[in-house]
This record gives sequence, C-alpha cells and structure tokens, in this order.
Amino acid sequence: MGWGGKMRRVDEKERMGDMKRAGKIKIQEEDYGDRKPGKVTEATLYHCGYCTNNLGVLFRGVLWEKRNFPASVFRICHKDFGEILYDTGYSEDIFRKGIFLWFYRFILPVCFKKGDRIDEKLALDGISRENVKIILLSHNHPDHIGGLSCFPKYELIGFKEVLKQIPVMSNVRSRREPKKLMEDHFLCGYFQRVYDLFGDGSVIGVRLDGHCKGQMGLWIPDLKLFLAADAGWGRDLVRYTLSMRLAPRLIQRNFFQYKDTLGRICRMKKDYPWIQVFFSHDMGREKRFWPKYRKDGI
Ligand SMILES: [Zn+2]
Repeated sequence: MGWGGKMRRVDEKERMGDMKRAGKIKIQEEDYGDRKPGKVTEATLYHCGYCTNNLGVLFRGVLWEKRNFPASVFRICHKDFGEILYDTGYSEDIFRKGIFLWFYRFILPVCFKKGDRIDEKLALDGISRENVKIILLSHNHPDHIGGLSCFPKYELIGFKEVLKQIPVMSNVRSRREPKKLMEDHFLCGYFQRVYDLFGDGSVIGVRLDGHCKGQMGLWIPDLKLFLAADAGWGRDLVRYTLSMRLAPRLIQRNFFQYKDTLGRICRMKKDYPWIQVFFSHDMGREKRFWPKYRKDGI
C-alpha cells in the first residue's frame, strides 16, 4: 500500500469534493507548480539528536523493532532574508530536571551528544549563529524548540497557539503570526488555511492541526519540498496510521484531526507525486536540496 491506503477510504466523501475542484486545481498547479519564485537557493536537512521507540509499541501489525526518530531541522537559504531555520531540534535542555521532561524521556528515550546542537551543525557548514535572522516554528514540543536559545537575535514565526506557549526570551527580536491568507493557491484544494509567509510566494505556511493545535507545515516551491512536521511518524509509517495503538493515539492532541490532516497530505501527494514530503522524524541521512536548474542539484 502506498501513500494514503486505508486513510483514503475514511475520507471518501471529502475526497469527492476535492475531486470536483481538481479540474481547477490542476490548471493552477501547472501554472504555479512550475513557476518558481526563485528566492530559495538551497536547503539543508540536519538531525539534531534523536529519540527511540519500538515500532511494535506504536503500531499493531508491524515488526517489533527499535527505531531512532531523528529531530530534524531544515535550514532554508533565502535570497532576501538569508538563513532561515524551520525548527531547532533537541539541545542539552532536554536533560533538565522536571517531571514533564522526565516523563518525556521515559516514554521517548533521547540520544543527544556534543555536536548535535543546531548551532554546532551550522558552524561546521560555515554559518554563524548571527546569520540566522528568522526561525519558523512548526510547534512547541522539546524536539523542535531545543535550539531556540542558541541564536542571538531573530524573528520567530509560528501560529498563535504555538507562539503563546513559548516563554518570553530576550534573544527573540520579534514574534509574528502568518497573516497573508491565500485563496487561490493549489494547496487550498487540500488545506483550509494556507499562508504566504514572506509575501513573495517562496515559503508557504500550512496549518496542520491534529498532532497539536497550530502546527505549521511548509511548502517551498523552489525545491518542491513539503515539510509536514509531526503530521506523521514517518513516510513509511503513514500506512499504519489506523493501526496506531492507544497510547500513541493519546499523545496526539486530536486523533480525528490527525487522521484528517494526514489524509489531506496523502491526497496532495497522490495528485502531485513530484512533491517531496518530509516528516520531522523521518529516517534517512542529513542532506542538501537545490533547485533543479542547478547542475549540482538533486
Ligand atoms: Zn516531534
């Protein structure tokens, strides 16, 4: 079974509605999908620590095997805004005292070692902490916000429900919620709230509720990347979503919305297979992405 599988049967009625719009959407996509804003020149995927869990604990019908779930950070290089981060991975903060973090490490044992922090990874690539002026936050869980305190002055962008959970920090120059709601973008055929984050069409924020309220995914047309945060455990695990056991279901803020959001991502992927979808905890290597027109690109 590929993307979606059982998920699609659940949302059959809604899919029919989407299909009706498909004619219009397809035309727009051909226009839009091949029109690259030309603003994002590169992106890099880093793994900043990981947690472990047993797949058999998470899902019924899978092999009983331990899996590492890396905490991903995407560095997005923008012609006008410089270095932008999407999430910040773990940091040493995950080992602080406190009942919440103790419980978190109990259910999701964390591996984080020297050199795993995002500012250390960037330094190896010749990027200083001062270069990061904007951080886009998918949501406020420890594996996504760990590195927020590593950067001296930046703008923090995320949805309201997420930003209000982040304590006031002196190194955050300003906070901003996505405001420019899009109505004629091809992603509007799949997601209810789609925002142009910088007003140039280069980075599009998509609301992906379910795992938590106000989770923000990203669409980067120059790279044909759709970053889906924690809307799924991993690309190869999407097919097992309906077999998720009770405990991991309860970790999701709203499992009904979680399934709905994942179904929308699956429909998008099915209609546009050229879109590369990444979840924050996908397996695989750290890697770099370039627009296809570059000779050395992917
Ligand atoms: Zn996560």
